[in-house]
Amino acid sequence: MVYIINTNNIWGDFQVYLIDFVYLCHQSPLHFMFTIVNKPLFTFVGSMKIQELYSKHFKCELSGRYIHNEHIIPLLENATKIAKIEQIGSSENGLPIYSVTLGTGKKKILAWSQMHGNESTTTKALFDFLHFIKQKKFYVQDISKFLGDYTFVFIPILNPDGAFTYTRENISGVDLNRDALDLQQKESMILRNLFEEFEPDMCLNMHDQRTIYGTTEGKTVTVSFLAPAADPTRTITEARKAAMQHIARVNSALQLLIPGQVGRYDDTFNANCVGDACTMAGVPSILFEAGHFPGDYQREKTRELIFCALLELFHITNFGTIDIGYKEYFQIPENQVNFKDVIIRNVRLSGHENPVSIAVQYQEVLRNGKICFDPVVDSIGDLDEWYGHYENDGNKGFALLNYHEKEGIGEKIVTIVDEITQNTLFNSANK
Ligand SMILES: [Zn+2]
Repeated sequence: MVYIINTNNIWGDFQVYLIDFVYLCHQSPLHFMFTIVNKPLFTFVGSMKIQELYSKHFKCELSGRYIHNEHIIPLLENATKIAKIEQIGSSENGLPIYSVTLGTGKKKILAWSQMHGNESTTTKALFDFLHFIKQKKFYVQDISKFLGDYTFVFIPILNPDGAFTYTRENISGVDLNRDALDLQQKESMILRNLFEEFEPDMCLNMHDQRTIYGTTEGKTVTVSFLAPAADPTRTITEARKAAMQHIARVNSALQLLIPGQVGRYDDTFNANCVGDACTMAGVPSILFEAGHFPGDYQREKTRELIFCALLELFHITNFGTIDIGYKEYFQIPENQVNFKDVIIRNVRLSGHENPVSIAVQYQEVLRNGKICFDPVVDSIGDLDEWYGHYENDGNKGFALLNYHEKEGIGEKIVTIVDEITQNTLFNSANK
């Protein structure tokens, strides 16, 4: 029996873990598969270890979807020993906007999250990253290398007013990701000033995407990327090439965790989008979109994946293909709009001759300081082209929506039951 242990990455107790793993494999009929420990297995085991350590040691105390300044201020106050925390301005409604600076290295990376107030998953991931840097038990050497190689500045909440009201837009109703040219809003000016002053080598524009995206194979897209264009013909400039190469590398690592669940956004040029404006200025820019993971409407799994993506991007882990070419970016499947939150198939409804399918979408509503997911009837008909995150088959029974026979498109749904058997086909706990 020969074990070839790839020592590209040395992480504390990793080798012990690997030997344990090989030992366990020995006890099973599959042991012959693990005679040689090669790079794919090594990275697979390494990524399992990250997942194991994450919830105990790296995850910060933020949770859920409703994240605003009051949640992050205590975490910022606790980070002053390892990071430079600054108030870099105030929002249109006078709320403070903060920046966090980690490291003193030559490679300068600028990130911002919650430019759209209701997109908090990447904010949670950035604070996980801060928490990871702060702990002193694991990856100590890798962290010290990161702090020496990089200066990483991030704005955790660029739109604190929208974060408070849980809206995409800021208090003036402006989508800040359409204000890169006009720079009409204070938040846009704050970002622009920081961009000009810091002169980053790369920008990370961090967002959440809706639950509607999937691949042509019917897989949920949990994380998406885009290397935005710099002109209407979508020329692959040097800046775009660099962004594409980083995305391809990070994607090759994410495939270990969520195979087939990474997507790519369409690259139609819009000079008013901040990422496009960065690429125009010759700075590689990566759009991060945190999406849906099956059953995870609070996006706790997705935040972990974004955290892992950051570790990979900064070479703290090297699970992906290091020398990957930028063209591999185009192998990432383009996002399709082909998912509904819920589809109840094959039911009879009054007014419809043949059996139909009912699609339900969750509406995110801020209620008593929490985000509630209100199910609303979205569409009724032949939904064969669509996938549902939750699906049920009505077996051609007569369906009652909220105990009535009407169609009720746009109606909030409490329950869908079979009229004859009284079987519940859907209730709001089905996610
Ligand atoms: Zn967004």
